[in-house]
Amino acid sequence: MTTNRQWLINDRPVGRGLKDEDFKWVETPVGAPGDDEVLVKVHYLGFDPAQKGWMENIGGYVAPTEIGEVMRGSGVGVVLESRSPAFKAGDHVQGMLRWQDYAVIAAKELTRVEAPDLFTAHLGILGTPGMTAYFGLEKIGRPFPGDTVVITGAAGATGSVVGQIAKLAGCRVIGVAGGPDKVAWLTDTCGFDAAIDYKSENVRQRVRELAPGGINVVWDNVGGALLNDLLGEIAMHARVVICGGISRYEKGQMPAGPENYFNLIFKRAHMEGFIVLDWMSEYPVARARIIGWIRSGQLKFQEDVQDGLENAPRTLMRLFTGQNFGKQLLKVA
Ligand code: NAP
Repeated sequence: MTTNRQWLINDRPVGRGLKDEDFKWVETPVGAPGDDEVLVKVHYLGFDPAQKGWMENIGGYVAPTEIGEVMRGSGVGVVLESRSPAFKAGDHVQGMLRWQDYAVIAAKELTRVEAPDLFTAHLGILGTPGMTAYFGLEKIGRPFPGDTVVITGAAGATGSVVGQIAKLAGCRVIGVAGGPDKVAWLTDTCGFDAAIDYKSENVRQRVRELAPGGINVVWDNVGGALLNDLLGEIAMHARVVICGGISRYEKGQMPAGPENYFNLIFKRAHMEGFIVLDWMSEYPVARARIIGWIRSGQLKFQEDVQDGLENAPRTLMRLFTGQNFGKQLLKVA
């Protein structure tokens, strides 16, 4: 009988950062698929900051997690056995495969990998981060040619795609990221017009120098002080897209409100949050466009691949310390 190595949720990291003890390693026999289910060998896992929020049961936009369930996480894999007409053995699939070697999962929860040569990209630029960038920008950021777009968390899986799509839309793009390597990658590889290292530079001062006319679109992945700095520099009728607030994840409490929010009034601006899942029915259109841009060399992406299922908890923690350079992935075995 084949063994399935799994990580279970063992505790809720509420009001603190993640700890090793939040996860429990178990080994169980691989299950057999029932009617309309599929057995998948998990090859790669993708890591998203939201996974910590799911463990906290904050937000209420996905079903609550339970202590003792296999840790939720997206993955790509290959079908070993199918009891659904939708898939056959050998198909490449993506879905919520969770932190384990083998997933028995309902066929309706799986999506076929559209471009097998871009297998792992289905967890990043063709997965949730890419969809988030595409729809958040199109539906909420609504960039116009000539707009100045400023992005926090810019060198990450989501932020780097936001900036490149904004460039394709004819905008001037400034990224904010941590460290000289990430800043250089944004300007040299991703074609950003400028990038600011928030760890060594005065962000508000640099934005004033780089965007004297103000920011038309703020894309915020970070929250806290960085969001506050950018709110202070918005242009008339700016759109402020609240995508995420990763700076809160290691903290004991929610951040204080941004004191510069009054600028939304003075500048007749708009601040709006979103959850990308609301546009799931439109994902195939976005995926096809992004695949086209990748193939034509207009979109670049980077992946940070860790190795071994045993390292899954530590791999998730990398997101909250900025150790990941590009989409955080893990090769399962
Ligand atoms: P990512 O950007 O690839 O990785 C996270 C990055 O956040 C790190 O590399 C780090 O970059 C930065 N970071 C971590 N702690 C920070 C802090 N205290 N201050 C400033 N920066 C910090 O991750 P991602 O998957 O693309 O997610 C980016 C954001 O999008 C997250 O906030 C996530 O929750 C959000 N998101 C929202 C939706 C939605 O539907 N609304 C969907 C997907 C993702 P540096 O090295 O530059 O600090």
